[in-house]
Amino acid sequence: MPEGHTIHRYAREHRRWLRGRAVEVSSPQGRFAAGARLLDGRTLLTVDAYGKHLFYRFQGAATLHVHLGLYGGFRELRMVNSERGGDGWSVAEVPPPTPGTRLQLRTPEVTIRLSGPTSCELLDPDGETRIRARLGPDPLRRDSDAEAVAAALRRRTTPIGAALLDQKVVAGIGNVFRAEALFVCGTAPLRPANLLDPDDFQRLWATIRGMLAEGLRMGRIVTVEPAEVGKRTRGRLLADERHYVYRRAGLPCRRCGTAIRAFKLAARTAYACPTCQPW
Ligand SMILES: [Zn+2]
Repeated sequence: MPEGHTIHRYAREHRRWLRGRAVEVSSPQGRFAAGARLLDGRTLLTVDAYGKHLFYRFQGAATLHVHLGLYGGFRELRMVNSERGGDGWSVAEVPPPTPGTRLQLRTPEVTIRLSGPTSCELLDPDGETRIRARLGPDPLRRDSDAEAVAAALRRRTTPIGAALLDQKVVAGIGNVFRAEALFVCGTAPLRPANLLDPDDFQRLWATIRGMLAEGLRMGRIVTVEPAEVGKRTRGRLLADERHYVYRRAGLPCRRCGTAIRAFKLAARTAYACPTCQPW
């Protein structure tokens, strides 16, 4: 499932291409046909990301809400005649949408297609507020409230590794960031959330914010300090060098050599080093 940094990246990209433009909106698959008709031709005012949710605000229309879920994804086809230049498709060459394309957003410069989302819907006026009220703070937003996250963790006796995936506690963290942030902080995923002391929490929050921001910048999740695997920059890390513990079950810990353990936690596989994250 895409984590928060991917959603924020989509928001940034879609703002860049569509903000202030009259957008041709359609639903090639048909399942969002009625909604698309209401949005078609309207000007997109902005796109906002909150946790794993995207909100598209069109002039004079209801807000479009998209949640990708496990299988959703966007495809962006840039047109060759785009003012911003570079490579692209000519109008005649653009491939037809796949049968699963729920939503298509089109301007003369770009075609953006969405398939397989969990949600693609128009919200009533309170809809966005209602969705956001169910979510904890988003570490990628400037206004995110660390104290609210700390307070939510103090109220929970569930393992910290489960609490971090609970979008009501903190919005946007998925399985990779959970595994990597807890490793970097030396915190066992099974430790009860309410046993984190304030210093533990501050370190964890700073780590999560830093990792998500780096993910947003790079467009992928790279958590390993390059020097620890003998490289000079994050960009030089190979695919199997980018994580400390995620998907490394049975392999030696990069810091201590102990075999990384994997186990189910909150319905997803958790990874941890029993030595670096004692429990
Ligand atoms: Zn270790």
